[in-house]
Amino acid sequence: MSAPYEVLLYYKYVRLPDPEVYAREHQRLCARLGLKGRILIAQEGINGTLSGTVENCKEYRAILDADPLTKEIAWKVDPEQGHVFPKLSIKVREEVVSLDLGEEDFHPADLTATHLKPAQWREAMKEENVVILDARNDYEWEIGRFEGAILPDVPSFRDLPKWVRDHREELEGKKILTYCTGGIRCEKFSGFLLNEGFKEVYQLDGGIVTYGKDEEVKGEAYEGECYVFDERLSVPVNRTEGAKLISTCRGCGCLSIRYRNCGWMPCNAQFLLCENCENTLGRYCSKLCKEVNLMSRAAVTGF
Ligand SMILES: [Zn+2]
Ligand SMILES: [Zn+2]
Repeated sequence: MSAPYEVLLYYKYVRLPDPEVYAREHQRLCARLGLKGRILIAQEGINGTLSGTVENCKEYRAILDADPLTKEIAWKVDPEQGHVFPKLSIKVREEVVSLDLGEEDFHPADLTATHLKPAQWREAMKEENVVILDARNDYEWEIGRFEGAILPDVPSFRDLPKWVRDHREELEGKKILTYCTGGIRCEKFSGFLLNEGFKEVYQLDGGIVTYGKDEEVKGEAYEGECYVFDERLSVPVNRTEGAKLISTCRGCGCLSIRYRNCGWMPCNAQFLLCENCENTLGRYCSKLCKEVNLMSRAAVTGF
């Protein structure tokens, strides 16, 4: 069945003279095309993920491709059966992605590491003296990453600089290959690594999503799925015979990619739970949440 909708993921580092005006025009454009999703706009560029009908997504891409400011975007397009966002949100920010570098901040147009295409990346991962460094957050690499990657235990991108400074000895003298979901975070992060004095730094062009779509590498050497920031929650990457899941159900430990939110509303934590455990244990991230929720319900109903 052909999909009537598309999900777009894209970014462009470009100097936008007036982000506020640009955002207002963009709001009108997206509203007219019935697109939903999230777009960040800053003086340094634009970063977006949207869903819409195939026709409207096509028109949106054509308009940005024809604009000298946003031409040559490397679009990532997924077919989908419907919208994967509840609404449209366009925000103006200081930066499209932030490492909280303050005075030391720079524009990736001035400083970023060499890009490797998927096939080059696959070969580079096999070299000696290489470290593969995941530039995403802990809840992202938990469900999928490149085999053998270093996985910084950071809850947010802004925590990465401190992590790097605390773990210098793991990276020193190595060829560093860094990657993220769609490539935008690495544009910044790889520049930061160069600024920190690391000599050999490379980034995966277009990120995991592009790597997974590449017809030659087919996501080889990626394990698990790729976390995405929309209602799909994750997308498959590895289309080779070596594909496997790595994340496990919190209830029974079986391999699972099934996300649920904790049934105790004040917690609402996102976690993995297989269908069987949801039916038998209930939709709770912990015993504590289950007990508190049952107690508060008993208090309301008087039982
Ligand atoms: Zn289970
Ligand atoms: Zn909970």
